[in-house]
Amino acid sequence: MVLADLGRKLNAALQSLNRAPVVDEKVLDALLKEVCAALLESDVNVKLVAQLRQKVKTKVKAALEGGADKGKEQNRRFVVQKAIFDELVQLVDPGIEPYKPKKGQSNVIMAVGLQGNGKTTTCTKLAVYYQKRGFKSCIVCADTFRAGAFDQTRQSATKAKVAYFGSYTETDPVTIAAQGVAKFKKERFDVIIVDTSGRHKQESELFKEMVQIGEAVKPNMTVMILDASIGQAAEAQARAFKESADFGAIIVTKMDGHAKGGGAISAVAATKTPIIFLGVGEHLNDLEKFSPQPFISKLLGMGDVQGLVEHMQEMATQNPDKQKEMAKKLEEGKLSIRDWREQIQNVMNMGPLSKIASMIPGLPQDLLQGSDDEASVRMKRMIYITDSMTAAELDSDGSLFMEWGKDGKPTGLTWRVTRVARGSGTSVREVEDLLCQYRMMANMAKQAGGKNGWLQAIQKMQ
Ligand code: GDP
Repeated sequence: MVLADLGRKLNAALQSLNRAPVVDEKVLDALLKEVCAALLESDVNVKLVAQLRQKVKTKVKAALEGGADKGKEQNRRFVVQKAIFDELVQLVDPGIEPYKPKKGQSNVIMAVGLQGNGKTTTCTKLAVYYQKRGFKSCIVCADTFRAGAFDQTRQSATKAKVAYFGSYTETDPVTIAAQGVAKFKKERFDVIIVDTSGRHKQESELFKEMVQIGEAVKPNMTVMILDASIGQAAEAQARAFKESADFGAIIVTKMDGHAKGGGAISAVAATKTPIIFLGVGEHLNDLEKFSPQPFISKLLGMGDVQGLVEHMQEMATQNPDKQKEMAKKLEEGKLSIRDWREQIQNVMNMGPLSKIASMIPGLPQDLLQGSDDEASVRMKRMIYITDSMTAAELDSDGSLFMEWGKDGKPTGLTWRVTRVARGSGTSVREVEDLLCQYRMMANMAKQAGGKNGWLQAIQKMQ
């Protein structure tokens, strides 16, 4: 996954903060050095990184002067972690609300971007995304430069059961765009996606054509399609398009690859334009809604409860009552081991594991490493462990597995752990790990269910 390396490094840096006995300026400087190095290695623009360092320092200083460290070292840690979390969120959040298509009216979305960035694929993914949510969606292929562009649209739109418009004979893209949009408006389509050309004999011709198409179809939103794998070039590319196409949103594609991805982040800041979706694969459903806070939370290995709830709600169509009940429990933080196991099973049924597993708080990072097959084997072992639990154990919050002292504190593990390990053919250590992960997940889900839950979740992790 793009940025996975960055996530790991940031996570390690934040963990080192937890190990420091006191949090003083020296520790903060060392931590910031690590965070900045990780960002730079991932291709995030130097200026942005320098700004982040300065802002974190100013924020921490102001918070501590305001008395935020009163009493505990723990509070100082929290102030530092919160400042870093907030500034990372700022990197991907220009603070501008993107356009939201409304039902019952025609919403014209124009896609721009260089050839190969994934524009045509993303247009179909977008149409599928909105169609699934009850918008009558269609695609207009206004790319007459590339031979075969219309064929590609026709094939993928047919596969996705989405209406499309294009021409084998008309050579003027502006005419096609205008005709297609007019036709679909007349037919009362809600979302009309216009795919434009991504290449020309000369760059200036490409930009001129985009302006003309824009004038002809008057889009409600222009989206720049940006390839995560082009590295630092993303920023310059986005700037060039912004000048002529003035896009209002970005979709970053190929986030499932192994690129560094920091260039795409820098493009957001350089053009002050929000990312709305991430392309995470070649299939039509491989499109993820983007929100800054959950994205950073997930990047830092803290899960994405909001995304998970949304996913589960999407799945609600398959088993409405069950899923609704589960989403509610998740929001309320009342999950038993049985519920958690059910979630893991759901995740396994939901397609490529690596995409969804990272949303579950408490799942260890290394579970997501390697291929989907490897991750699947690891998850199956978790299921085997829970298979060896009794009904009472599954319905518990894990406390049955602990010995409790008179003061109400856990003093060790019960015979149940050994029994489960034996029964599932795993080790005591693995059962212990599973219980630990479950507890972490339950705590975090509880926190994240409330207002500003992620903040408290960070605190909880200390
Ligand atoms: P266009 O020239 O910008 O219209 O790009 P295409 O839509 O033809 O895509 C170019 C290539 O990128 C194709 O092979 C797509 O399957 C692939 N592609 C597009 N989006 C993604 C994505 O999110 N992940 C991956 N892995 N491949 C993608």
